Order: sequence, then C-alpha cells, then structure tokens
Amino acid sequence: MVMEHFDELVTDPTVRLADVESHLATLSGGDELLGGRYRVASTSGSTGRRGLFLWNPGEWATVLASYNRSFDWAGVGAGLTHRTRMAVVSSTTPWHQSARVGASVSSPWVPTLRIDSGDPLESIVERLNSFRPKVLVAYASMAHLLAEEQLAGRLRISPSFVFGSSEVFTAQARRRVQEAWDKKPFEVYAATETAGIASECDQHRGMHLFEDLVITEVVDENNKPVPPGVYGEKVLVTVLFSRTMPLIRYEMSDSVRLASSPRCPCGRPFALIDGIQGRAEDALSLPAASGGYVSVQPIVFHRVMDAVPASGWQVIQGSEGLTVLLSGVREGFEGASLLGPLRRELAAQGAVVPPVEVRRVPNIPRTTVGKAPLIKSYLPASERLGRKP
Ligand SMILES: [Zn+2]
Repeated sequence: MVMEHFDELVTDPTVRLADVESHLATLSGGDELLGGRYRVASTSGSTGRRGLFLWNPGEWATVLASYNRSFDWAGVGAGLTHRTRMAVVSSTTPWHQSARVGASVSSPWVPTLRIDSGDPLESIVERLNSFRPKVLVAYASMAHLLAEEQLAGRLRISPSFVFGSSEVFTAQARRRVQEAWDKKPFEVYAATETAGIASECDQHRGMHLFEDLVITEVVDENNKPVPPGVYGEKVLVTVLFSRTMPLIRYEMSDSVRLASSPRCPCGRPFALIDGIQGRAEDALSLPAASGGYVSVQPIVFHRVMDAVPASGWQVIQGSEGLTVLLSGVREGFEGASLLGPLRRELAAQGAVVPPVEVRRVPNIPRTTVGKAPLIKSYLPASERLGRKP
C-alpha cells in the first residue's frame, strides 16, 4: 500500500516515485542525495514488491544515531576519542540501507572494512585475517559461519565485540560465537523502514526496544496486542521521527515476543523482547491431518535444527515436499537422523507429513542482499493455502 500510494504518502510534494526510482538506479556506493536533500534506500522485496524509503538530513541523523546506539549499549565506545577497527559483513548492494549508512559514516576514527556476505567464504576469511577487526558486525548466519571458521583455525581474529543482525540468531549460533571468541554476541533488530528497533545491552537479557524512536506493537492476526511471553503474529511499528514518510502502525511480518520479566538490571527503562522468529522466514502452510491447512511456525523447525552440528541450514518448501539443506556438517553426523525428529514435530503440529529430503551443499544459497533465510517457501503465494490473508 505504501508503494501504491507513494506520491500521496510522501509529505514533500516535489518528490515523485518515478524520480526516486531513477535516483536509486544511479547509486554507486557513495553518499548520494536525491534533490540534494534525501537519502534513499530500498528493501530487498522478499515479501513481494520492494519498498522505497527516504529520509531528510534530520531524519537521517536519527537513523545513524539509532544504529550507533547498539554499539553504545554494548560498550564499544567508538567515537572521536576512541579508534576502533570495525568489519561489517552484510550487503554492499548500494541501495541497501546498511550500505547507505556505511557510506555516510565513513570516518578515519572508525576504519571500516565492508565485505559482501555473498562473497566466497575463503575470501571473506582472508580479508578479515588481514584487517583484524576489533568489532565484527554480520548477519546472524554469517556470524555463525565465521565462528565455525575460527574454531576450525582458518579464521584468526580476536574481536572484542560481535554483533549479529537481520536474521534469527539461533541458540546454536550464539553458542558457537561464544566458543570461538569467548564473547557473548549482541543481537540487533532493525529494518529499513524503521532503522534500529531494539538492541541488547551488556546484560544479555534480550533486546531493549528503542521506545523513544519507534512504537513497536506485538499483535495477533487481528491486530490485537498479545501478552508478554507469547509470540505475536506480526508487529505494527510507528516511527516517531519520520515526517517525510510517516509510518503509523505499519505492518511487518516479524513474529516477536515481549519478555515476561521486563526489567533489566542495567536500569534502562525500555521494554525487552526476548525472542524473534520468522525474520525473513516463512511460516509454512501444510495440509492438516484433520482437513484444511495448518500453519507451521519457524520455531517448530528450530527445535530440531538448532541442535544440528552444521555451520548452516535451510528448510525449503517446494511443490514436492520439504528439502533440508545442510552446509559445513561436522564429521560423523548423519543427515538422515533428522528425518525422524522432523516428521515427529510436523505430525505433532497436526500436519500431514510431506516427503522430506536432507541434502548437503557447499553453501546455503543467499538472497540478493546476501541473507540466508532459514525457512523458505518457494510455493507461489496462490498455492500457500491456509495462509492468513
Ligand atoms: Zn538492559
């Protein structure tokens, strides 16, 4: 709807979607402005049509501050008086917000190495080894992969801080990061539309919502609030600082859970969320044993898959059934041993268990912005029966 009504929604009448689109196509990785004023970024369009968003200089300053808050809360202390070497392994696609942020904060005080997570792993490892970052920022799946490389002795870095973003940080990924570098990772929750939404403090009790910047409502499918301790179906976000593109109760498909005990020893007043599922993951719709369809939430697969000794995994739903991809599997692990537990979990959900195939692959396929979604349906939307409208 935002894209359909873009010209009406943007509060500067001189801004037209057609101009924003052609500006986006000219981006080459620098700090380019639309009409000398606006920074533009695009979502990857994983949920359908890609979304374009823009910020005036004041709004952009808040976007940068919201990302910086994650570092600040973790105690990184980078800034004018403290040099820090930071490596960011994410998307270097010029229209991606993280690339736009990178281009506008490039500073001699915080030397930054930016690596595309779609690059061959060997080359990523080599560049990190020669850069020796003190702060490592990566998509959660990439942080896990790099931890495995460190534990295998190929990667030899000693970051003081590890940040994981944009994807589900599985319990296993967290454990391996801690084993690799003896540091608890910090999870960051952000989106193009909102910039930073929530971030961990050094108590690691979950992520504090940035309630002064974004109102995040955890709701069910009817937009009714769900209580703490329960996963919502989606979130509604209201961005308090954006005026160029007002977003009020804008729907995002992330399924998050407010912490049951909202107080954190750090004393910050912001509420905590202690779980995210379904970020860039699909709830799969399967025929139900009792007729109709049942929606299988990502957490069902996490229960089985998070214990698998592999550096990466992905569950794919196609028209033939489910395919489980595994990469970097530790020696002696039999992929077939997953079949029983997966079938049991699916049956317990009331699903007619589809054919399941487990395959080893050298790498988990990544999307155009370099993410590796854990659970993905490749059924056309029209065939995802049972999905809520
Ligand atoms: Zn805290």
